Amino acid sequence: MLSINELTYAFPGTGPIFQKINLRVEPGEFVSVIGPSGSGKSTLFKLITGLLEPDQGEIGIKGVYLGARLGKVGYMPQKDLLLPWRTVLDNVMLPLEVEGRRGSLPEVQKWLSRFGLSGYEKAFPDELSGGMRQRAAFLRTIMTGKELLLLDEPFGALDALTKRNMHSWLLGLWEELQKTVLFITHDLEEAILLSDRIYLLGGPDVQEWKVGLSRPRNSEQIYQPEFIELRRELERLIHHEN
Ligand code: ADP
Ligand code: MG
Repeated sequence: MLSINELTYAFPGTGPIFQKINLRVEPGEFVSVIGPSGSGKSTLFKLITGLLEPDQGEIGIKGVYLGARLGKVGYMPQKDLLLPWRTVLDNVMLPLEVEGRRGSLPEVQKWLSRFGLSGYEKAFPDELSGGMRQRAAFLRTIMTGKELLLLDEPFGALDALTKRNMHSWLLGLWEELQKTVLFITHDLEEAILLSDRIYLLGGPDVQEWKVGLSRPRNSEQIYQPEFIELRRELERLIHHEN
């Protein structure tokens, strides 16, 4: 679904953030990208979407290495999630509008309900709770209809309890929709609980882990020895590289 080969990138006038890194995501996988703040997680997404161009190396989506990439992925950026002057419905319909498509209202209503947003169609973003705003932004990403979703710290601003609810909700949705997800987080527990594999950024190289926990996942798995062991290992590496 996604292959990144020998990618090198530096912002002008600075040392490289990435030096010949390789990264792959298979169809249907849930893969997390973790790393300390400033390690280049958001930059990686901007390179994948084509908002930034690699200095060297190549990025392919479904085996296509040339041409525009932004239209091939569903991208949920870290900031500026919803347009405050548009209602929930108009925000969610935006990807269709941009492509000049018309969504069927009953279809969208079904989605709004699936995302716990029924009855809020005409509400504005600042009238919603944090969790609802994230779900609306996520639904807008789903409405792009893309198979590969890039989610940049979607739950970063949520309190622990809301976050936990969002995790089981997201896992259920991912299993149902069979999307491929690349997920940025700085929350190790979240990364392990959700993912098949984890990439750690920090320094110009990346490291990769497989998460051996069974699926379907549930929040009780955070107490399993494999979970605790992996968490300890990742924590050690992140602090070391800080
Ligand atoms: P993360 O998402 O992991 O916190 P970012 O990808 O946002 O990290 O940033 C990685 C590094 O690149 C940081 O040191 C940041 O200051 C720098 N950076 C990000 N955007 C720019 C930019 N437009 N110009 C110059 N440096 C940038
Ligand atoms: Mg970031």
